[in-house]
Amino acid sequence: MPHVKLHIPGPVEVSEKTFQAFCRPMIGHRSQAFKDLYAKVQPQLQQLLFTKQLVYLSTSSAWGVMEGAVRNLVSKKVLNCMCGAFSDKWFDVSKRCGKDAEALQVEWGSPVRAEQVDAKLATGRFDVLTFIHNETSTGVMSPLAEVATLKKKYPDVTFIVDAVSSMSAVPLKFDELGIDVLLAGMQKAFALPPGLAVFVCSPAALAKAATAGDRGYYFDFVEFQKNAAQNMTPSTPSIGHIQALSSKLDEFFAEGLENRFARHRRTNQMTRDWAVRHGFTLFPEPGFESLTLTCVNNGAKPGGRAVDVPKLQKLVKDQGFLIDGGYGKIKGKTFRVSNMGDETEATMDQLIGALDKAMAQV
Ligand SMILES: *Cc1c(COP(=O)(O)O)cnc(C)c1O
Repeated sequence: MPHVKLHIPGPVEVSEKTFQAFCRPMIGHRSQAFKDLYAKVQPQLQQLLFTKQLVYLSTSSAWGVMEGAVRNLVSKKVLNCMCGAFSDKWFDVSKRCGKDAEALQVEWGSPVRAEQVDAKLATGRFDVLTFIHNETSTGVMSPLAEVATLKKKYPDVTFIVDAVSSMSAVPLKFDELGIDVLLAGMQKAFALPPGLAVFVCSPAALAKAATAGDRGYYFDFVEFQKNAAQNMTPSTPSIGHIQALSSKLDEFFAEGLENRFARHRRTNQMTRDWAVRHGFTLFPEPGFESLTLTCVNNGAKPGGRAVDVPKLQKLVKDQGFLIDGGYGKIKGKTFRVSNMGDETEATMDQLIGALDKAMAQV
């Protein structure tokens, strides 16, 4: 089968180097070799997330930790901040966990703003909120720093933040933000194969989790903390993923975090410019566009151009690239192009060349 390179917003293209690291010889998860591996990636993850807390490794997709956070931390009522498919789903998941939940729903394409969250928290009904930094379905990046400042006003509310498609591509300073949980899956901006998630917890969140009676075992945050303190995970992890993560983190620091963040800004600007050049508008409210993907408006909102998205996708795929045809209720009315992971100006140029050719025929 010919290789079709992934420019969908996750999973994204995985490099040969990462696959080679993934396939290193297996080691036992209670061995010194494993502890050494975890002890090596731990300070790198802490540096990446600007935190002194331990970073946990969960063998699951991001949803495992998202659901786990609800099970560990919601005792009264959770406020689910919703602006797209993933954040909307978190409300459903909260209810499926048997939790009392309320939606703060904004229109798809808009960000969640601090003012809206503040009005909800002021009611005193909530002990937890969930918030998605980069809503991958709409390409909207909500202002995390702005919302996180509310933590000072509501210190007893636990702030759970999904940074699944932004972590490692933009600076996320966990300790400085003062939030309680920050999580991500590795198949998005980290460009690892799917199957591993990382997360970090505030001491207050851990103390609260310790009082939750029905947090289960596999996603018990207290178990993660106890084990991470010994450079271990509660159960047998996907060791291949952690070896791949180690290799990837070395690449991040060889490039330099600031350079990595700047590279994502530049490669993202390339897809935005491409869309505008072809007469499209972008789906997100101006000023809140994601830096890791571009969600192009294709008739979901008034203005701009609209094309046959499946045809565009096919024309691009025939040239070796996969782009996304829109997610959930905006499928076909938007399409998405990712610049996550290892993409450079040179590799994005190749994609843009293919997109240009496709636009001449669509
Ligand atoms: C992809 C994604 C998820 C879900 O991740 P899984 O790995 O499928 O569990 C959650 N939140 C956001 C913002 C995502 O982009």
